[in-house]
Amino acid sequence: MGRPSVILTAVSIVAAAGCAQYVQSAESSLSGVVVSAIDAQTLGDHVFTRVNLEQTTQGYLIESGNLSIAGEKVDGSLVAVKGLDGAVTAIVDRPGKRGILLIDKAGKQRFLPEPAYDYLKSDTVVGAAVPHTDVKTPSNNDVIDVVTQFSVKAVTVLLSDPVAFSLAQLETANLGLRNSEVEGVRLNLAGIRFSPNDYPVDGPGLNDLRDEVRPLRGLYHNDIFVGYSDNAPYAGMAYAPGDVSINGIHYPLAFRHEVGHNAGGDHCNDAGKDNYKFGYDNGSGSNTFLCGNNVPYYSNTHVRVDGKPLGDARTADMARLWREQSGRMSGYQPAFDGYRLVYADFQSADLLIDTTGSGRTHIGVVALSNDEGPTTLVDGGEGETLLTATLKDAEGREHAVKFRATRQVIGCTASTFMNSYRLCGNDDAGSITLKLHRIYKDNGSLPRGVYNGTLQLKVLDHDDPTWSRDILVSLAVNKLL
Ligand SMILES: [Zn+2]
Repeated sequence: MGRPSVILTAVSIVAAAGCAQYVQSAESSLSGVVVSAIDAQTLGDHVFTRVNLEQTTQGYLIESGNLSIAGEKVDGSLVAVKGLDGAVTAIVDRPGKRGILLIDKAGKQRFLPEPAYDYLKSDTVVGAAVPHTDVKTPSNNDVIDVVTQFSVKAVTVLLSDPVAFSLAQLETANLGLRNSEVEGVRLNLAGIRFSPNDYPVDGPGLNDLRDEVRPLRGLYHNDIFVGYSDNAPYAGMAYAPGDVSINGIHYPLAFRHEVGHNAGGDHCNDAGKDNYKFGYDNGSGSNTFLCGNNVPYYSNTHVRVDGKPLGDARTADMARLWREQSGRMSGYQPAFDGYRLVYADFQSADLLIDTTGSGRTHIGVVALSNDEGPTTLVDGGEGETLLTATLKDAEGREHAVKFRATRQVIGCTASTFMNSYRLCGNDDAGSITLKLHRIYKDNGSLPRGVYNGTLQLKVLDHDDPTWSRDILVSLAVNKLL
């Protein structure tokens, strides 16, 4: 599973197995690995060994792997996410350096260090009755759809793309699952929300967050919720087991620990109880996520660090627990059958609709009702489509919020109306990118505040009226002026 690479060496993503290629940006963002943007000072004497490299349908490049001093044991990790604008959001974890590294599109760096924290502090609330009666059995492809909710204060701390940060957060746990040989389960970003409520990261704050978000599951078609707050008496707090956690925005290593509590895990099995649902301390300074949280692993009996196993079949095997619980964790809501697009104010959002090999060449995107946007395909040329989404403010009142959408055929320079099916020139490739953005003047009369919700769109094929694919768009607006 490990794919060794050397830091600061450009490696083409084309060589990476199993990666969806985002054709349109091939020139701009696929020419080098993401971590090549990260300076030597951040890594110190550590060497990066890649474990995963992938590109999302929204064009984000995600790279993650382990850190070690040459020839020594793995004692850290690095996750880096690059947006289409070139900005990088990284989560660094090595001895002496832990935190969020933000590199903007101009190359300017900001590092937000994670404060020292004892991850053995009791940070769980017993999962109250979860309204989840129809538990599905684990499969080999369990996708846990996650909605993240940022308080406005947390957004202000981050001052960067919440989509990239959310992807990086999920990747910290996905890296641990891969490292721990838990195949067939992964966390996927399903939506983002903004909230004025900076719930404290503690038990009451977790309960308040749960009360706000749980009723929204049908809207986003997601499984679990993850909150981010500035006010953090604890680094994180989670239901164990359960479906919600809340994390301090200054603690980027908390989530991989808290979601382990959601899976049903506890800290260290110091008493040697006959129970495998614990993290592990291997006695050589390597502490898995739930038992100290300083190496990129969930406890398991098969992986060794420094020659010693990172778990015990009887007392510490979180990998087993994850395999057993992946059905529950991914089964809070049926998976959405279609594309997802996550938009959060900060930058525009793109979605690649790849028709390669399908023979579909004249595709475009329509709204489901005339109040929202055009509902039929047209032979349209260059232009933007105005979309109207009904989003809710912090008090639950509905507002019409306007967005602009364009469609770009891969390989063409011009953007058309969203609902055009026209190709450029004699290109017959057909794959398109849907681009969504918001401009101030369309929403001039909208009061300042946050607005959240979803909008459903549909991909149609002009040549085949019987075919369509749904798109679920998660929309989070933070109107500052
Ligand atoms: Zn904990």
